[in-house]
Amino acid sequence: MAYRTKDWVIKKKFYLSSFIQQKLSMKKIYFPFVLLLATTSMGLGQKGAASKFANSITANDLKKHLTFLASDSLKGRDTGSPEQKVAAQYIAKHFDACGLKGIVGDTKSHFQSVALVKRGWGTYYLKSANKTYQYLEDFIASSNAPINNEESVELVFAGYGISDAKYDDFANANVQNKVVVVLEGEPKLDDGTFLLSGSTELSKWSKTDAWKEKMAAAKAKGAKALLMITKYSDEDFLNIVKQRQAMMKRYGSARMGFAEDGEPASASFAVINISNAMAFDLLQTSAQTLETYKKNVTQSKSPVALPLTAKAAMRIERTTVPVETANVLGFLEGTDKKAEIVVVTAHYDHVGVNEGKIYNGADDDGSGTVSVLEVAQAFGKAAKAGKKPRRSILFMTVTGEEKGLLGSEFYTRHPVLPLENTICDLNIDMVGRTDDAHQGKPDYVYVIGSDKLSSELHAIMEENNKQYTQLDLDYRYNDPNDPNRFYYRSDHYNFAKNKIPVAFFFNGVHDDYHQPTDDVEKIQFDKMEKRAKLVFYMAWELANRDKRIAVDSNKP
Ligand SMILES: [Zn+2]
Repeated sequence: MAYRTKDWVIKKKFYLSSFIQQKLSMKKIYFPFVLLLATTSMGLGQKGAASKFANSITANDLKKHLTFLASDSLKGRDTGSPEQKVAAQYIAKHFDACGLKGIVGDTKSHFQSVALVKRGWGTYYLKSANKTYQYLEDFIASSNAPINNEESVELVFAGYGISDAKYDDFANANVQNKVVVVLEGEPKLDDGTFLLSGSTELSKWSKTDAWKEKMAAAKAKGAKALLMITKYSDEDFLNIVKQRQAMMKRYGSARMGFAEDGEPASASFAVINISNAMAFDLLQTSAQTLETYKKNVTQSKSPVALPLTAKAAMRIERTTVPVETANVLGFLEGTDKKAEIVVVTAHYDHVGVNEGKIYNGADDDGSGTVSVLEVAQAFGKAAKAGKKPRRSILFMTVTGEEKGLLGSEFYTRHPVLPLENTICDLNIDMVGRTDDAHQGKPDYVYVIGSDKLSSELHAIMEENNKQYTQLDLDYRYNDPNDPNRFYYRSDHYNFAKNKIPVAFFFNGVHDDYHQPTDDVEKIQFDKMEKRAKLVFYMAWELANRDKRIAVDSNKP
């Protein structure tokens, strides 16, 4: 389960932390009771056969696999790490043992290479005549653009950096190819009103994210970069810099993305936040000059010329490091409907090592990975016993989930089997624990997404659960208004985006979520076994029924 993803970020105003959110939203939301008839396209005889193979999914086997995959020797299976490759080999070997085939490329490999790059910022400084200022020590940035080798630049002061019909700081300034230095905020009159709004309301030039407005203005005038002089005291500002530095240390400033994609648009212009003292030094001016300037503006109620220019030098090094990783695929060909595919997924990456601590990711998502291994084994046994599924089944453990659902996105961008023939994705992410809401209660699993694209998928799940696994199916996180937005935070979402029905199985978050304490000792394998069995029964039904499930709804 990823912290957040592109689609998740859009709604980040809802974000507290998933754990706090879960504590806040104890309200249980049930679906209206779905009336299910006991008749399906399957006869009871075949169902009986399913049970026999489902019983090969055992707590013991799950434990055996997870004890290896979540051991310290695999160092948290970070995307692209050598240890993650060891995990990939282990999974592929298991698929072979189950009789599942590789289907990638001419070599019929189990591995779909996912070419990623880690993009970040390296050496980054600004040099005045007297001093070199370092990124994350002396200043921070709201946006960055590379200047890979040191360049001398010309600085030019442009007031508040506002370009408005009523008030234009750029009217008489030539900033073409120059680095513009501006004041954060907007002019405020002595009576407490703002010059631009004529009231106590902030204009867009000083609201949250006003830097984006100022960036657009400077960019439109042909500027090279924008330096913004903080509105905070230098002491407060340097505290902000320190906090940012600590955050970058913890989470890393580099981001993984696809090698095939170019630089993100966000890396096209530098907006650098600097202290007052740094601005005075860079512009070779004084606090007093700028104070007088601000007074002149409020008195004349219009932009005032202050021709301050200076030379400086800067470098913003962009680093791009290739990351080699792969999705691991095991294919079981069907019989009379083999062109249609049921996909079963889990992510086998986790977050690796941080500050010397190994994040083993036993629940996240070692639990889903070993569930896929066991469901695959059950189908493999059935196939060997002459009970091949009618449709094909693709078992796939994906990479890069924790970096933003990258492996599953790569698969859906470059599907090995046609997406239009892919009838569903059953995704398993965190199924080995019990969350606070279910302590001391009957066995359960959260299901998310099952009714969003196909009412039949949802009905099949309810029916199989009723008949075989009798778990409490908890749908609270399926609510589109749930602030955790789990629907957007695991790999099924990339299939759902392509209008492929999905069901996502999840045990909820807990204190060990994304902590070094997410260890195999804490896993409840009996519960995991039941949850994996439900996925098996669903896959069995979905692969064997006469008609492919219909895509008959499109719920948010
Ligand atoms: Zn996670």
